[in-house]
Amino acid sequence: MSRRQELDVIVVGAGVAGSATALALVRAGFGVTLVETRSPMEWRADDEVDPRVVALAPDSASLLDELGVWSSVLDARASAYRRMRVWDALAPGALTFDAADRGEAALGWIVENRLLQHVLWRTLNASSASGNPARLLCPAEVVAIDNDHEGVAVALADGTRLRTRLLIAADGAASPMRRRLGIGTRDRDYGQRAIVAHVGTERSHEATAWQRFQPGGPLAFLPLADGRSSIVWSRPDEDAARLLALDDSAFRAELGCAFDFRLGAIVSASPRHAFPLRLRLAERHVAGRCVLIGDAAHAVHPLAGQGLNLGLRDVRCLVTLLTHAKQRGGDPGAAHVLRRYERERRSENTLAAHSLDLIERSFGSKAMPLAAARGLALSLVDRIGPLKHLLGDAAAGRL
Ligand SMILES: Cc1cc2nc3c(=O)[nH]c(=O)nc-3n(C[C@H](O)[C@H](O)[C@H](O)COP(=O)(O)OP(=O)(O)OC[C@H]3O[C@@H](n4cnc5c(N)ncnc54)[C@H](O)[C@@H]3O)c2cc1C
Repeated sequence: MSRRQELDVIVVGAGVAGSATALALVRAGFGVTLVETRSPMEWRADDEVDPRVVALAPDSASLLDELGVWSSVLDARASAYRRMRVWDALAPGALTFDAADRGEAALGWIVENRLLQHVLWRTLNASSASGNPARLLCPAEVVAIDNDHEGVAVALADGTRLRTRLLIAADGAASPMRRRLGIGTRDRDYGQRAIVAHVGTERSHEATAWQRFQPGGPLAFLPLADGRSSIVWSRPDEDAARLLALDDSAFRAELGCAFDFRLGAIVSASPRHAFPLRLRLAERHVAGRCVLIGDAAHAVHPLAGQGLNLGLRDVRCLVTLLTHAKQRGGDPGAAHVLRRYERERRSENTLAAHSLDLIERSFGSKAMPLAAARGLALSLVDRIGPLKHLLGDAAAGRL
């Protein structure tokens, strides 16, 4: 049996970008239906720290604060980092950002993906229980869409049929919605995998996010609240496979060496996980009454921890535009509203993706003249106060 309903907004995908969008729209008085294929995993304080952590910039924290979930994240488990230190394995020179120089308490926070999703879902569930118009359909999968001038018809795998004035696709880098909408992508396969694990080190992480650029890919150590560091080690596919196959002590020895023993020896390591790395930029962010946000619109190299931060900037921009349209009594799915979102976000997302790509290409090279130029560039930026401040503002989402 099929049912047909007219809805304000359907959000497809309840990762952090989709859940934050749904919550923000509910708060702005929209009727929201959130469709997700997999139930989010529970988060418990006595569980091992989720292997997937993200470095959240201050503007992302502000958005989560406005949604009323940030204090729950901080109370549960998050780690503020106060310094960031970047250097090159092949050249002298380093770049250091310090929150104190900027008159701030932190440059950002390391937070578990699972915790973010859990807190957003819990708050959405509470909103729907208290009568706000949020509906979670999970497990549920969109199997067909028909996008016309008046609205979008959506068919779910269980036969449910829905109709909405606006569909927001937040279904991740592989985005089945993007493919259904016929939106192409520009891709670059980095031929790398990011190995992630949580490691104990001989010396304290000093509440610092560390990044060492090496030929083949960068290595980051991100400070966790329990004193360990979460590593993101990008390596060419073959070398990543070799590193994943090493036994624990051989892996720790290689990791310590690759990190120049900055924090002394690596004394423990959790199980390793690996993620293939690929740049993927959607050619458009909008098709008719459908709009892409988060990784569905742009998947970038993790070297500067920008992926989710860009996604949350999409959320803020889109929700602001939709809310203004609603307040003026207009149609939130109208072409001019969505075009404005595309104009504002596509340029920033494209610039960020290409800048990260350029950094990956130039810092991944072994060529000595390039390595010397990189070392010089790091030292110069470190010494030129205004430029350094500008870069700090960009990373914090304040430009
Ligand atoms: C190693 C690594 C380190 C990273 N570090 C950082 C960092 O430090 N800082 C940072 O900002 N970013 C970082 N990122 C990027 C960040 O993890 C992603 O940008 C972010 O998780 C994307 O969130 P999203 O909600 O857009 O997509 P996703 O998290 O992929 O969520 C998509 C959701 O859609 C659902 N879905 C898929 N298809 C369907 C369908 N047909 N119907 C319904 N639901 C569907 C999925 O089940 C999923 O729940 C890192 C990434 C990697 C790989």
